[in-house]
Amino acid sequence: MSATTDTATTTPTTQPTTTDAGREKRLNCEQSVAKNLLFGEIVEENLFPYPAIRERDREMLGQMVEAIDGFLADKAEDFRRWDRESAQPAEFVQALRELGLFSLIIPEEFGGLALSNAAYARVLAQTSSHDSSVSLTIGAHSSIGMKGILLFGTPEQRARYLPRLATGELIAAFCLTEPGAGSDAASIRTAAKRNPDGSWTLSGEKIWITNGGIADLCTVFARTDGPEGKITAFIVETAWPGVTRGHHEDKMGIRASSTASVAFADVRVPAENVLGEVGKGFKVAMSILNNGRTGLGGGAVGGMKSLIRMAGRQAQERRQFGRPIAEFGLVRGKIAQMVVDCFAAESAVWMVAHYIDEGSEDYSVEAAISKVFASEAMQRAAYEALQIAAGAGYMRDLPYEQFVRDARILPIFEGTNEILRLYVALSGLKCVGEKLSELKSAAASIFNNPIKGFGLMTDYAERRLAQATGVGRDRVRHPLAAALRPLADDFENYATRLAGAADESLRKYRKGIADNQALQKRIADVLIDLFVGLCVVSRADATAKADPGSAAQVHAIAAVFTRQARQRMSRNLRRITHNDDAAVEAIAAGALERGGYSWDVI
Ligand SMILES: Cc1cc2nc3c(=O)[nH]c(=O)nc-3n(C[C@H](O)[C@H](O)[C@H](O)COP(=O)(O)OP(=O)(O)OC[C@H]3O[C@@H](n4cnc5c(N)ncnc54)[C@H](O)[C@@H]3O)c2cc1C
Repeated sequence: MSATTDTATTTPTTQPTTTDAGREKRLNCEQSVAKNLLFGEIVEENLFPYPAIRERDREMLGQMVEAIDGFLADKAEDFRRWDRESAQPAEFVQALRELGLFSLIIPEEFGGLALSNAAYARVLAQTSSHDSSVSLTIGAHSSIGMKGILLFGTPEQRARYLPRLATGELIAAFCLTEPGAGSDAASIRTAAKRNPDGSWTLSGEKIWITNGGIADLCTVFARTDGPEGKITAFIVETAWPGVTRGHHEDKMGIRASSTASVAFADVRVPAENVLGEVGKGFKVAMSILNNGRTGLGGGAVGGMKSLIRMAGRQAQERRQFGRPIAEFGLVRGKIAQMVVDCFAAESAVWMVAHYIDEGSEDYSVEAAISKVFASEAMQRAAYEALQIAAGAGYMRDLPYEQFVRDARILPIFEGTNEILRLYVALSGLKCVGEKLSELKSAAASIFNNPIKGFGLMTDYAERRLAQATGVGRDRVRHPLAAALRPLADDFENYATRLAGAADESLRKYRKGIADNQALQKRIADVLIDLFVGLCVVSRADATAKADPGSAAQVHAIAAVFTRQARQRMSRNLRRITHNDDAAVEAIAAGALERGGYSWDVI
């Protein structure tokens, strides 16, 4: 089964779907927008017009948002108490079950609500607007804990587990991280040995597992051919002999949600509980994480919306110098920046959710971009909202400090933002590198096979030549509002410049590019700004056309985002060649060698 959500049908290359205003939209499922941007190309059909939410989702979301608000809105005091006590009461988890919040993405035939990825992300936005720990409990279950069964489960596994996962009788967790294997997930030591009867004996320890203390079912990753062997995924029930759980971790944030170690001491796992193919567990893990990223992004957007609301109210109520602080330019600037960041994160997250729902085959780079952008936008919003509340925000009577603590996990788990930036850059550069080596071999084979050789030459080299001379810039042809046209021009221009920078960097560093993380980060940051920026322009266009009254606001948001992105892109591209990387490296080496900072004023 391919790595798509269960609700997505198997996909022809382009798939007509009904979207906004009944227009037919064709998504090019084989093409990654982000990877093509590194060639200076804009896969327009995957960006414009901005996708509307499906009609069924809209209807269901209306009811669900109301039910979630009805249940969670009066629990603000409880959430703060549970944060301090570091516990989520069993009766509350039971109430989440009864609300159907463990069944969100499970197909209807198994008793689930069969929400699309987009609708699921929207539900997590709503729960996060009340309390992040609630989102963690239901999100770890759906986004990663049981997602493997949806993506890779056999019909028997689905029939056996999905109905009980839907009711929440079984709560799921995802067990990858170990004491010695965090970002380097491929280095896990948990081992599974095959027994003569085909079953497996599983031994090892997983740490920091969300829902670890309450999960009944875990997706566990283990080595199956000795220490250097391949990784395989298993479905493991925590009631089986040999499974033990550690204490509830005392965390900085999301304190009420369960995080615990899960240990496996010679646990017998039946042969039929292998998830996916033996030896293909790493692919299973990465597919689950890629597919689940919009849940985290949706949660971040929900949190930002709450912060904007709270900070706005605080700024209007708090008076200093005889006026509400909301009248001061520096406070207004912070609120505006939160709105711009939130709109941008929302535009990118729901674009990626749409790719997943439409059966895209290549969305992992865009998913990583949306996670990096949304998680960092949420950090900025939490920091600035607390700054607006200032001293009051620092006190635990108000929820700002909890938002800051809760948000801090977002750039750490489900792939740190450092690792995801490297992934974004290297995945894109790999495609460019492949074209360059094709080009090299095409040049070499021109004399042996002129037609094939020239064919390949014309494909990439002509495009690059045309871009370099300015005539080959890829244009957005979608009829944009006049206010947005110059913004699209900026992104077209920077896509061309990024393609040039990628090409030059690969020619200069060749394989050595893999060791140049500063360069990779700059490439990734330009790609993040380009992809998010194009999503912003597309969404602003669709929003303003659907609701002309909001046009001035959303056009202004898009303009501010674009100006800021342009400054960042310009700086990042320039620093590819003009930088102080050598000095930075020397400073780091000095601090590491001397064991810290070496100077004092005395
Ligand atoms: C609250 C919480 C809940 C979690 N839930 C789960 C869960 O449900 N399931 C699960 O399996 N795991 C879970 N995790 C684990 C989480 O996914 C890991 O913490 C994360 O993958 C990072 O691993 P690490 O903490 O060991 O950091 P490390 O890998 O040790 O990284 C430390 C630092 O080095 C950087 N770094 C590492 N390698 C490189 C590199 N090659 N280049 C540049 N920088 C690098 C990292 O970005 C980071 O800044 C959870 C963690 C927490 C804190």
